[in-house]
Amino acid sequence: MSSFLKKYYFKITLPENKKKYLSNFKQLIEKATKQSLEKLWSEEWITQLGITTVKAHCIITAGRISIEEEGKKIYLPSRVRMGIAERIGRILRSQYKRMKCFNDCLKIMEIVGVNENESKLIKLLNLTFRSYKNKPYYKKVLLLQNIRLIKNWQQKISIDFHMLSYCNIVKPTIKNFVFPYGPDNYRELDYMVRNTSIWFKIRLPTTINSRSINDWEWIEGLIPIPEKLQKKINESTNQHPKKPRMITKTLKGGKEYFFFSFPWNFEKKKVVQKERTRALAVDLGLKKIATAVVCEKDKQLSKPIYLKITSKQYQHIERLFKHLQGISIQIKRKTGNHRKQQEEQARIYRKLSRIKHQLVQTTTTILIDKAKQWNCSEIILEDLRMFRPKKGLRKWSRRLNEWLHGQIAQILEYKTNEEGIKLLKVTPWGTSIHCPRCTNTRGLKVTSPTILTPKKSGRWFYCPNCGFNADRDYNAALNIFRARFINYRKIKSLKDTSPIPYMEIGIPSPDRSWRRSRNDLTTTQVVLVTGG
Ligand SMILES: [Zn+2]
Repeated sequence: MSSFLKKYYFKITLPENKKKYLSNFKQLIEKATKQSLEKLWSEEWITQLGITTVKAHCIITAGRISIEEEGKKIYLPSRVRMGIAERIGRILRSQYKRMKCFNDCLKIMEIVGVNENESKLIKLLNLTFRSYKNKPYYKKVLLLQNIRLIKNWQQKISIDFHMLSYCNIVKPTIKNFVFPYGPDNYRELDYMVRNTSIWFKIRLPTTINSRSINDWEWIEGLIPIPEKLQKKINESTNQHPKKPRMITKTLKGGKEYFFFSFPWNFEKKKVVQKERTRALAVDLGLKKIATAVVCEKDKQLSKPIYLKITSKQYQHIERLFKHLQGISIQIKRKTGNHRKQQEEQARIYRKLSRIKHQLVQTTTTILIDKAKQWNCSEIILEDLRMFRPKKGLRKWSRRLNEWLHGQIAQILEYKTNEEGIKLLKVTPWGTSIHCPRCTNTRGLKVTSPTILTPKKSGRWFYCPNCGFNADRDYNAALNIFRARFINYRKIKSLKDTSPIPYMEIGIPSPDRSWRRSRNDLTTTQVVLVTGG
């Protein structure tokens, strides 16, 4: 495996005392982005951007960006307008495939009728639109979104098909404030990264009613780099990072922070190949955020390691989710004050994302520590892009259960790379019904080790063939390790991989150097503590 470069962004907080000018800047940029995007929101522009890979600001030029307030033009330096053009161009470009899919759905639905059922339409669309490898061109989710969109609109206003156009139905949304300094070329922003600090000089507006360049001022500053970040930056291949983007973040109390988000390149480390593959196999959930087990070839080395949250925390999260669901039902039914509901919704989202952030950070840190302790060369997760139906769980509770997965996987990818550990993702099919001890494919979900009657929502696994019974998530973790050996040329499914036998002599201890940590000799339970 050859090494390659990977780009990571790091945030540098901008000084508090420059905030007034920064807020002006943000307000102007947001206004200009909104106004200009509305003007440029058309099939023609989306297509132009979608079919090329040229920098977006070369297609949407600075000349097209402007703000007007009560008929008066507001002044923005041309390099700033270029940045806005870049941002808008990227938004438009991101719509291209969706729009194309929409139009293709429209074509088919015009022929077979809007009332045709969803799965038939998808089949038809998959047959008609294929990629060069002869695979379906669109993802199922995308097709479904567009089919439903068209159906809804047809019901809403039963107008002629030709009148339905993507840009009339879908309105552009700008979620976060992002200003890319990429196209700027050091005219509006100059910076220098030293070992412990970043010096910068930036041109910002002194008023939001900027009339000319005289209303813009150069501001200079020095930002200390946190020690942790300094270490990381020292390992990067480009000490002087490419141009940043400016972003903001609003904290709980409503306080807003401004950041430069700089890209740094890192050489992706080669994975050290050990003689045997020793891996930490991880099943992810919520109540038990992670259930992990260390295995090697066809041996189990550790007892299960459970990472749990307290039931209080679980209930808190559950309440927030239920609340959120309640609001979205109200919104759907159009009862109550719409603005208030939206505000409430946003508030809960913020709350949830804070909790999420903390849980993800703690969980990934512990998992990496465990992997290092046990000298694992791999961490194995389920690949969540694969559809994994979980029967017996209602829709929202499934969402709840899979809430953290994506982010944990993402952060682990970054952290494992830093540690030279390989992160593998495996197909999740069948991990909850196969027996890892005897390869029986019909394990049961039961209530508890003492009540072995099948129950859909049971949290315990029981194999009627060999009698193995264990926590369901622990069982899944063992199977996730087995799934690692599926390769589509030789071993096609979980049932053909070798079983992981019982450790009759007990669970062997981890490598000698880690012997002191008695923790690993018993089932480990880690309770994640988060604030708030
Ligand atoms: Zn069995």
